[in-house]
Amino acid sequence: MEDAALQRILDQIADAAFATADKGRVADYIPDLAGVAPDQFAIAVARPGHPTLTAGRASHRFSIQSVSKVFTLALALGTLGDRLWNRVGREPSGQAFDSMILLEQEQGRPRNPFINAGAIVTTDAVLEGSEPREALAAILRFVQAAANDDDIHINESVARSEIATGHRNFALAHYLRSHDNLRHPPDLTLGVYFHQCAIEMTCAQLAHAGLFLTACEGAPRLVSPGRVRRINALMMTCGHYDGSGDYAYRVGLPGKSGVGGGILTIAPGVASIAVWAPGLNRYGNSKLGTEAMQRLTDLTGWSVFGAP
Ligand code: GLN
Repeated sequence: MEDAALQRILDQIADAAFATADKGRVADYIPDLAGVAPDQFAIAVARPGHPTLTAGRASHRFSIQSVSKVFTLALALGTLGDRLWNRVGREPSGQAFDSMILLEQEQGRPRNPFINAGAIVTTDAVLEGSEPREALAAILRFVQAAANDDDIHINESVARSEIATGHRNFALAHYLRSHDNLRHPPDLTLGVYFHQCAIEMTCAQLAHAGLFLTACEGAPRLVSPGRVRRINALMMTCGHYDGSGDYAYRVGLPGKSGVGGGILTIAPGVASIAVWAPGLNRYGNSKLGTEAMQRLTDLTGWSVFGAP
């Protein structure tokens, strides 16, 4: 699609988002995110060989939260390979992102790497053989390399805010440890996990950082093509928790959301798209972000399932 036509579509999507009355509810269980104004929206599309196109507040930094789980998964698969799957499953959970129910039923083996329990195990795997500081630096470096941009940082205040209030994550980590599926003390693994969630990026940076998952010619190659395909499969089936089926139905592309209101979506072979709108729907995924992505695939035909 030509840049000018796509820019018109993005402007139209941003106008529709700003005009929508129901903007969802900002995540308030993380005190530092509770004060973010819900009437904000941004979208960015990155394609190799094209300028990055944006609409709305695309250079405003937001907390990527669980979108970071895609990058740690890629990093963990790179260092540990398929051994990771001995500790984490690959099935949708049908439960909230911080649910404990299945973890108990399945003896401490999380359903997938994108729910909190699975992401905590993945971070624990990245920690193997290194100090927390080094592991965190490796995660941040991976994100910076993917985005080809060193100006990406961690918001310490958001990380501290989660350390102080993340009781469910501590419960999950202790439960994992009781099943010997956490190799480090919970506060150590969670220290890294909370900091990776507190990485801040703009929509334009996040869209760039997703390019390696498009497998487009000219996109950075950070993991093998086989792994790109499988990470996309997990994003499609598990990237939106118990709203994953709904996202596949509405948008038809692999995506990963975070409670900061960001969503990274991959149109394989075509583009990497980031949206941000801090109000969430009942699944904890960006409400306006999901609606915007639905409009985008309706108007571009980029869904992997075919025509609009
Ligand atoms: N840091 C958040 C948490 O662990 C991430 C959750 C999310 O973005 N869904 O609760």
